[in-house]
Amino acid sequence: MGKAEEKRKNCLNCNKSLRRIDWYYRNNGYFCNKACFKAYAKKQEEESAQS
Ligand SMILES: [Zn+2]
Repeated sequence: MGKAEEKRKNCLNCNKSLRRIDWYYRNNGYFCNKACFKAYAKKQEEESAQS
């Protein structure tokens, strides 16, 4: 509940730290860009397809 809430976001795909201006927010996650989102979504899909 503090002002330390201003936490750095990292790209869920490549784990690069993101600045507010260039993050890409999708499905409750932050990404560098659309390409990283797509790569991540694909990974998730493959993982869930395995079980
Ligand atoms: Zn990324």
